[in-house]
Amino acid sequence: MPTKNGASSAPLEYKIIYSKRKTIELRFDGANLLLIKVPQRTRQSAIEAILHQKADWIERTRKRLAQRLPVPQMVQGEQILLLGNWHSLNIQKVVTPDEVFNTPGVITLSQKLASQGVAGLIPLYRQVTRQWTEHYAQIYSEKHQLPYNGIRVSAAKTRWGSCGANNTLNFSWRLAMTPLLSIEYVVAHELAHIKHRNHSKAFWGFVAQIMPNYEQGRAWLKQNGHALPMF
Ligand SMILES: [Zn+2]
Repeated sequence: MPTKNGASSAPLEYKIIYSKRKTIELRFDGANLLLIKVPQRTRQSAIEAILHQKADWIERTRKRLAQRLPVPQMVQGEQILLLGNWHSLNIQKVVTPDEVFNTPGVITLSQKLASQGVAGLIPLYRQVTRQWTEHYAQIYSEKHQLPYNGIRVSAAKTRWGSCGANNTLNFSWRLAMTPLLSIEYVVAHELAHIKHRNHSKAFWGFVAQIMPNYEQGRAWLKQNGHALPMF
């Protein structure tokens, strides 16, 4: 994925929060602030020992958080991620449905949607996610006799998709930010769960049968998934 803004290089700040608790907890608030929640009367040396012990985790987590792309501003010319590529936002007073994608590399949205802020993007992301997950699910379900019970587009933040007990397929609208190859992989993965309700060797063998190049789609998500803007 092409990069957008660089990561900030501000120094890491610490904030110690004393409360009635029994253990020490470290939690990031953004990439540059580490909250250290400690029991009352914890000694400075105990806090320093934990920070030393967790130094690798702190560094790793901080780097990961710093890579996250900023939430787009809904202004003319803003760069918007769609299907793994950046598109320029074009805001117009009135937009008909067929105008949204009619210029390559451009997303055209109405003033009304743009005025909702980034929430105005979600209907578009939902629509794109539905369109492409349905596309691949139909093809593969027919080819491999995997009857699914409809598709639900969700706002899930920590998983791209899931396959319910009744074989309903759920996909996060965040998939609309990822390349088609990744969407195809997630569909193949969830459909494969209709046959294998686990992540066994047999399951992965079946995913490869459905989509021989699935590893490429999966690798993109592993490399870039954590950096997608969160909203
Ligand atoms: Zn799975």
